[in-house]
Amino acid sequence: MAKVALAVDIGATKVALALVDRDLAVHSKHELILGDSTSEGLWKAIAGSARPMISGLNGNLLGVGIGSAGPLHLEIGAISPVNIPIWRKYPIVEKFRELSGSHNVVLHGDAMALAHAEHVLGAGRGSDNMLGVVVSTGVGGGLIIENKVFTGDTGNASFIGHQTINFDGELCVCGRNGCVEVYASGPRMVAIAQSRGWSGGNTFVDLAADARNGNVVALTVIDEGARALALGIINTLGNLDITTVVVGGGVTQAGDIYWEPLRRHVKNESRYSGFLNDIVLRPTELRRDAGLIGAALGVLDGNSVLV
Ligand SMILES: [Zn+2]
Repeated sequence: MAKVALAVDIGATKVALALVDRDLAVHSKHELILGDSTSEGLWKAIAGSARPMISGLNGNLLGVGIGSAGPLHLEIGAISPVNIPIWRKYPIVEKFRELSGSHNVVLHGDAMALAHAEHVLGAGRGSDNMLGVVVSTGVGGGLIIENKVFTGDTGNASFIGHQTINFDGELCVCGRNGCVEVYASGPRMVAIAQSRGWSGGNTFVDLAADARNGNVVALTVIDEGARALALGIINTLGNLDITTVVVGGGVTQAGDIYWEPLRRHVKNESRYSGFLNDIVLRPTELRRDAGLIGAALGVLDGNSVLV
């Protein structure tokens, strides 16, 4: 058995686990859908999946890489995912140290993990500086600065979903008004469309399908959501003078119905800066395994064949 990292991707609606080798190939992937649970019940479910994956490795476990929805508390190895309210300052690093017997447990934000994976293997290859963005149940970001993951002081650099773009806007789950996420996440676009009389379903997939059929409410809400994300992207790129941005997550899989307004608004919002003229805006290339590969890179970076 080759040496591997256990990769753990903790999202708002599911937890994915896999073993990732030094060629960054993904093996033994498991997914847990998050339902109603207690804090310890959720941990038991994750541990129940992880234990058999690592029990037969016989010393070939390099460590555990975790990519989690934020916010994070890197200094204490804990997480408080906005959309997993049963976990507040949950000591995930210590839990995986106990479970795995490895001290080498590395925690990154989920969008940071995606940015890392896309920079090494995907759409961000060759860029020195890059912003990675995930737009799905929530909106998150991750930064590569001078070819390294930039975590910030507490692990939350580029907390793009919760920068406000409308100080009189609707209250966000985080407690601020008018955050990017209030307009741009998949569930929020659905809720806004429903508040305007759209009744074509309950998911962003339904909303995108109706937009493709010319439904005016669906088209308008998606345009506004893409504009909100574009504002968050341009605010961040402008702060840092970065011109490469890679965007992934469930919402972006809707295809042109989402990418056309996103590209248009990014171009439009960038015109005023005077220096963001050549923005490279790309979809992720790694699709569903980007989070796992990025989580594993926290352990494998410097050890892997490809970096
Ligand atoms: Zn917020």
